Amino acid sequence: MINALLLLKEFEKLGYLAYIVGGSVRDFLLGSESFDIDISTSATPDEVMKHFKSVPIGVKFGTVLVFFNDEEFEVTTFRKDLEYYDNRHPDGVIFSESIEEDVERRDFTINGMYLDSKFHIIDLVGGKDDLAKRIIKSIGNPDDRFREDALRMLRAFYLVSKLDFKIEENTLKSIIKNRELIKNVSAERIYRELVKIIKYENSLKALELMVDTGIYLYLPGLSQGIKYVADQQIMLSGEDFFAMCFYKNSKVDKFWKLSNKEKAKYNQVISLLNHKGKLNNNLLYQYELDDVITAARLNKYLKVFNVTEEELIKMYENLPIKSEKELQISNQKIISIVGLLPGSWLSELKNDIISKILNHKLANKEEDIKKYILKRKDEYEKR
Ligand code: ATP
Ligand code: MG
Repeated sequence: MINALLLLKEFEKLGYLAYIVGGSVRDFLLGSESFDIDISTSATPDEVMKHFKSVPIGVKFGTVLVFFNDEEFEVTTFRKDLEYYDNRHPDGVIFSESIEEDVERRDFTINGMYLDSKFHIIDLVGGKDDLAKRIIKSIGNPDDRFREDALRMLRAFYLVSKLDFKIEENTLKSIIKNRELIKNVSAERIYRELVKIIKYENSLKALELMVDTGIYLYLPGLSQGIKYVADQQIMLSGEDFFAMCFYKNSKVDKFWKLSNKEKAKYNQVISLLNHKGKLNNNLLYQYELDDVITAARLNKYLKVFNVTEEELIKMYENLPIKSEKELQISNQKIISIVGLLPGSWLSELKNDIISKILNHKLANKEEDIKKYILKRKDEYEKR
């Protein structure tokens, strides 16, 4: 905070107005540390870049990242948003000279306060009162504000999760009315906000409200999962939350632009849990430890397997072999014992050996495996 205040003073020396704004002021008044401090100024992005060590991160919207005393600050020029044509992007922005206009584009009253270099709060929207009353209230007409940018509805739930505040009545009614508009927001923005919602203490309250308002129905592939964790009051980490939702949905929804690695992981967890009741070493062998751990955590609630979380993980750890790489005999050796050219018989035989090892019918030792192959050799010669 000290460096942010010093930076405000630098701006003032240059003849500009500058304030700490938004979530950082809210958190400061609540006595909690903000990780990112946003600054709002009358200086244009070009002027900011001329005077400070900085990189542009969204010049079109007036934002520059400034490095000052070994800290980073997002500095945004006072602005006024033009019409929003699609519930998520303003058609353009005009830079403005005053916070009177700048505050109008911000989402909630508690996020609409400005702090100057002398530690004075400038509150044009009743943010201080709402903070004391612990309410989340749109600045201006909520219908207009959610139509401009539908993500703001999820930001309200994020604030519920983080602060345990109530959503003001008209704001809440407006979310119910406009909930469908969330469909117009990009997967990345929604995903980022959801991860924040899940992370905080009151996430279950936020999720319950998402069910009550019906907005959860417009989040592709997540609605059954959200309803389930809210009804059962299950607190999960972000990754477990999405795994649970996709399991309840029977598949990962393509809407979320997940990496191949993330998709593969969720698919493995779904596939394992779908083997309801049929837990054995052959099944577990097909999965990685990480997937089993996630499935074990979800199974605590889902109870598709009749074992505890610890038992399931132990079962995996106790597998006599966890992957083909651990097989104590090389392909070369097998081929030379059987005396045939490599072919599909090789993987069949190896799978058979692995299955015997998994079921403790054969030890994973070269000598034992050799003996076993010799016993079966005739079968292959007859082919
Ligand atoms: P966090 O605790 O996650 O930092 P925050 O409220 O500070 O929460 P930021 O994304 O850092 O959120 O945004 C900073 C400020 O910018 C907000 O407090 C709010 O004033 C404004 N803001 C952010 N997103 C929007 C939006 N979608 N619509 C209107 N104003 C927004
Ligand atoms: Mg912030």
